[in-house]
Amino acid sequence: MAKPADTRTAGRKPAAKATRSTAETEKIRAALAARRDELTAEYDQTLSEITELQRDRLTDSAGDDQADTGTKTFEREQEISLANSIKERITQVERALERLDEGHYGWCERCGNAIPVERLAAFPSATLCVTCKQLEERR
Ligand SMILES: [Zn+2]
Repeated sequence: MAKPADTRTAGRKPAAKATRSTAETEKIRAALAARRDELTAEYDQTLSEITELQRDRLTDSAGDDQADTGTKTFEREQEISLANSIKERITQVERALERLDEGHYGWCERCGNAIPVERLAAFPSATLCVTCKQLEERR
């Protein structure tokens, strides 16, 4: 789903601390949007698999014994929990995009440095830079 281009960027106040260049912000936006599209496709795929499993259950469950029914229910539950976790990740990316628009996204919560674009693309919910993250983990 393509959104119309954001035209609200003009006249915006710079972020409180340092600022990223527009090019860099656009790079993050593009990376996040690509991630969102990827996840959305994955989500749709999972949903159609759930529908398929559901249909199988309705059409050929007549000859199933209890074990078969149990397996199918389990498979479906697995798919549903997968779908939920993908949905959660989509929400994270969307929140990240909103915060990016507000200028609050992509700064390390500990040291205040800019988190590299590559890291944000890989982990849209990252709130620490790699160095601080490693320090956290070592504690
Ligand atoms: Zn940091």
